[in-house]
Amino acid sequence: MRPSYDFLVVGAGLYGATFARHCRDAGKKVLVVDKREHVAGNCYDVVTEGIPVAKYGPHFFHCPDKGTWDFVNRFSAFNDVRAKPRVNYQGRIFSFPINLMTLHQLWGVCTPAEAEQKLAEVRLDIPRPKNFEDFILSRVGREIYEVFFEGYTTKQWGRHPSQLPAAIAKRIPVRLTFDENYFPDTHVYQGVPVGGYTRMFDNMLDGIEVQLGVDYLKERQRLSKMAKTILYTGPLDALYKCRHGKLEYRSLRFETERKQGDFQGTTVVNYTDVNVPFTRITEWKHKFKIDAEHTFVTREFPAEYEDTGEAYYPINNDLNTALHRKYRQMADADGMLVGGRAADYQYYDMNMVIPAATRLAERVLGVGRGTFGV
Ligand code: FAD
Ligand code: UDP
Repeated sequence: MRPSYDFLVVGAGLYGATFARHCRDAGKKVLVVDKREHVAGNCYDVVTEGIPVAKYGPHFFHCPDKGTWDFVNRFSAFNDVRAKPRVNYQGRIFSFPINLMTLHQLWGVCTPAEAEQKLAEVRLDIPRPKNFEDFILSRVGREIYEVFFEGYTTKQWGRHPSQLPAAIAKRIPVRLTFDENYFPDTHVYQGVPVGGYTRMFDNMLDGIEVQLGVDYLKERQRLSKMAKTILYTGPLDALYKCRHGKLEYRSLRFETERKQGDFQGTTVVNYTDVNVPFTRITEWKHKFKIDAEHTFVTREFPAEYEDTGEAYYPINNDLNTALHRKYRQMADADGMLVGGRAADYQYYDMNMVIPAATRLAERVLGVGRGTFGV
């Protein structure tokens, strides 16, 4: 049987959809499959009583480059909502990420100079911090570590911050200004798609054949014959039946509730006390700027990957990184294209996924960098 498609894309998430779009735009025949019953991967949301409610947690789009921004704007209009979570620690509300307002709320300091002086007093002298805990202690001292990071991180990752790489802590800025924006200033393009992400993905995949509820690993033989080239965006260990061991991921469980009125006055509140079983609450109508009398809120409960089967977060320690490299070499040797947050085993945000998938598409299509405007 001759393959009837140029590309089989396994996974209708952002990586797979971006790659598929470029291939289709280049005139290729593409089949996208996803084991879930929906497109959009972890960005998936369902408009419920007028409010897009996400199934897999809050997603704020942010990117530094106009190419990526123009690309997503082809498929949806965006509002200007930026991630500005608050922290609730034992009933006290703080501005977050750590900024001058947070330090004012905590210590009463009013200026960058006062804040810097106080931080200089409390920072621990750890010359080359290798883990999450040491990195935060060396940056902002023990009190901030305990109020904002230790409990949340222990819950989120199911292990103590001293057992986690510093790279995770580096995601969170510390600023001595009143800038409360979660993402860096250099990410000048920020917002969320008006009407939700699923509609944006439907537009991205317009004109491309998509089959849902199809698990590539369960029908590998049949599906592999259908295309000349395969892109796989799921966990790599599963591709090889975990023959060299299991890659560790951290997972989540979500509980959504319908309420009346305004539940928390903002989109995201992080609960940093270790005794609160969830990490954050998202109130969807604020994210999409929807004025409604009812509301939906979702609590995120950290969970073991083995219990949910959903690989949300890679745990990038040395052991896992080495194991991932081994599986990656096997995939390369088999001529299988791989990419995305789970397959690359990288803590990608969406702004990293689109350029990564675009670079791969350029390479396999044999076109120059920038062909697709990203
Ligand atoms: P996914 O979205 O996971 O898509 C992969 C798809 O492959 C899935 O649909 C899966 O079902 C499918 N698949 C896997 N295996 C198979 C198989 N065997 N057969 C068929 N299909 C298969 N990024 C931001 O930029 N801003 C944010 O605010 C943000 N918040 C986040 C919050 C949470 C809770 C999480 C988990 C992630 C967040 N991200 C955020 C990251 C963002 O979700 C990812 O960068 C992006 O969705 C990754 O896209 P992907 O295509 O690689 O993976
Ligand atoms: N984090 C924390 N306290 C917070 C928010 C984040 O300790 O209030 C830590 C935690 O370890 C988390 C990491 O910082 O996993 C990265 O946070 P981010 O908000 O980027 O996580 P994501 O949105 O990807 O779940």
